[in-house]
Amino acid sequence: MPLYEFRCRECGYGFTELVAWDRRSGVRCPKCGGPAEPRVSTFAVGSGSGGGNTTGSGAGTAGFS
Ligand SMILES: [Zn+2]
Repeated sequence: MPLYEFRCRECGYGFTELVAWDRRSGVRCPKCGGPAEPRVSTFAVGSGSGGGNTTGSGAGTAGFS
């Protein structure tokens, strides 16, 4: 079961939760009990993080053997 990041819509509290993908919409804030929405994983963010994926480290050495 994957670990997802969530953020509360009510108080803005961020937390991580182990939850099935099809149940992510039912996660609630552990602080106030308000509805929480899943946050996009950092690796999936295309804009806002500065980009430059191709120049990053790791991708070039992934297939090295
Ligand atoms: Zn909350």
